[in-house]
Amino acid sequence: MQYLIDQARVFRARAAAQALHLGGLARYHRPRAMFIACSDARLVPALLTVAQPGDLFELRTYGGVIPPYDATTPTGESRTIEYAVNDLGVSDIIVCGHSHCDVVTSEMHDNLAVSGITESGDDAAPLTGDLTAAGHWHVLAQVDALSNYPCVVPRLADRSLRLHAWFHEIETGATLAHHPRASTFLPL
Ligand SMILES: [Zn+2]
Repeated sequence: MQYLIDQARVFRARAAAQALHLGGLARYHRPRAMFIACSDARLVPALLTVAQPGDLFELRTYGGVIPPYDATTPTGESRTIEYAVNDLGVSDIIVCGHSHCDVVTSEMHDNLAVSGITESGDDAAPLTGDLTAAGHWHVLAQVDALSNYPCVVPRLADRSLRLHAWFHEIETGATLAHHPRASTFLPL
């Protein structure tokens, strides 16, 4: 913890050294993109994209899960997405999954248990499925949920908003993007 405290204390000096104009940020909030991702500490959007303060509007949750839209029960996720789309007017939303995601691994264990391939319990059997494919599918499922949000639908229709499905490989540092026409993830 002390490392984090020490770094926060010298942030102003680091910002000055990098010529970051923090004062202007008080009057101006126009992020380059919204970035939706898992809360996993190994995935660092600002490090990945070299984003500066003001560049990324982030939504980070366990697994980066985007719940289905429900007008009767707004969620923190839906409010955050609506603010980005309606108020900030973002033109791009990146949904970024990652390798070795605990949520994806848990889903695979659950699916295997349901299908009877293995028994659920504290000592789950080794996974036999393709974790990478499951991780890719997980990202696309979130993009699919996002594309059905009422605030997103018209913006996709008039092409003023683009959705991007990314997948970050923690162990290699590579980031892949989904190419719908090829139905596959390829390096950026
Ligand atoms: Zn994760």
